[in-house]
Amino acid sequence: MLVVQKYGGTSVRDVQRIQNVARRAIEYKKRGMDVIVVVSAMSGETDRLLNLAHDIAKFPDLREVDVLISTGEQVTSALLAITLLEMGHKAISLLADQIRIVSDSNYGFARIASVEEQAIRAKLTEGNIIIVPGFQGVDEGGNITTLGRGGSDTTAVALAAGLKADVCEIYTDVDGVYTTDPNICEKARRLDKISYDEMLEMASLGAKVLQIRSVELAQKYNVPILVKSSLVEGEGTLVCKEETVMMEKVVISGITYNKNEAKITVNRVPDQPGIASKIFTALSDANIVVDMIVQNVSHDGFNDITFTVLKADAKKAFKITDELGTSMGAKVAIDEDMAKVSIVGLGMRSHSGVASKMFTVLSAEGINIELISTSEIKISCVIESKYGELAVRALHNNFGLDAEDVAEET
Ligand code: ADP
Ligand code: ASP
Ligand code: MG
Repeated sequence: MLVVQKYGGTSVRDVQRIQNVARRAIEYKKRGMDVIVVVSAMSGETDRLLNLAHDIAKFPDLREVDVLISTGEQVTSALLAITLLEMGHKAISLLADQIRIVSDSNYGFARIASVEEQAIRAKLTEGNIIIVPGFQGVDEGGNITTLGRGGSDTTAVALAAGLKADVCEIYTDVDGVYTTDPNICEKARRLDKISYDEMLEMASLGAKVLQIRSVELAQKYNVPILVKSSLVEGEGTLVCKEETVMMEKVVISGITYNKNEAKITVNRVPDQPGIASKIFTALSDANIVVDMIVQNVSHDGFNDITFTVLKADAKKAFKITDELGTSMGAKVAIDEDMAKVSIVGLGMRSHSGVASKMFTVLSAEGINIELISTSEIKISCVIESKYGELAVRALHNNFGLDAEDVAEET
């Protein structure tokens, strides 16, 4: 049996925690399993390194930034290997270019293309616990790349898929995936299971407990992910195929909240073919991802177009839109204090009235909905960010997700 275990930043933040990781890896090994451990940088380290680069340059060279920020994971890998050896166990750290975790060359956000098995298999056969730094890859030219923030999750799943591991365990600072961020809503409840599709929606809508790409990979290669705490014992949450989850028959599985949205409104643009295309082509040419788009009904030959972008892109998006909009006689406005609250659940496919219930709950709290978007298993509303946490708590309560409600039912 082969297990891949990934430990996040808080789980390796100091020597004591690294020893804790080592003890767990040894315990699994003693139970007869082959163990690959993927580690993150110590908490705060990636930010520290990024800040150093930005102290020197406003736009530091992307290749060199990856050389820099990939070191955090290398430090913890070596420290864990040293710890295991000191505890008397065979262990070896293998970096991305030693294993060959090959990625494209998109520095800072590289995508894994392939993982080679041979180097790891050989070292496993010799009885080693293998330690791999998360977050890093190597491109065809031998350059170090990184996989985007939170990317160690993806390293772990890619290894689990490539080596056909029985399970990929993600150890973090919470004891599983919750109905909503437990740091925002104290009544959040741990889910025993969640489907890949629901987890994908939750991750893309703001639940950073798993990186989106790790869930995509897990679904594609059918790797079960078990999210657990590295500090307390517990069952954790299994992220798995829909068939296994549907048995539980809940309508809404989770609620997410993302403060990262900015809203841009183009007021009174001429209602003519080609206007939306001009605006959104200009934005996409500038590599800006647009999230929601709403266009109102035109009465007098004019339209209003409203859309959201990531806060990080807001100023650039506004500049582009403002230039274009002004040349068409429109007025462009920006609001950077927006939040997106979403409800996610497979049960939405077969239940009606979920959207109206969401809108009613928000209106009962006096919260104005500015934009709405839906997919088969999610509904998102953009609201003023000051109401974000209130909205999460109200929805959590009204959709029957509060921890005590569930306890009462059982
Ligand atoms: P790590 O450093 O171990 O990778 P992260 O900080 O990336 O950990 O992810 C864990 C955090 O994700 C938790 O501390 C929690 O605040 C946040 N989080 C957001 N939404 C959820 C959710 N639905 N369930 C569990 N944790 C969540
Ligand atoms: N250290 C990286 C980050 O902070 C990767 C990770 O922790 O998953 O984003
Ligand atoms: Mg993470």
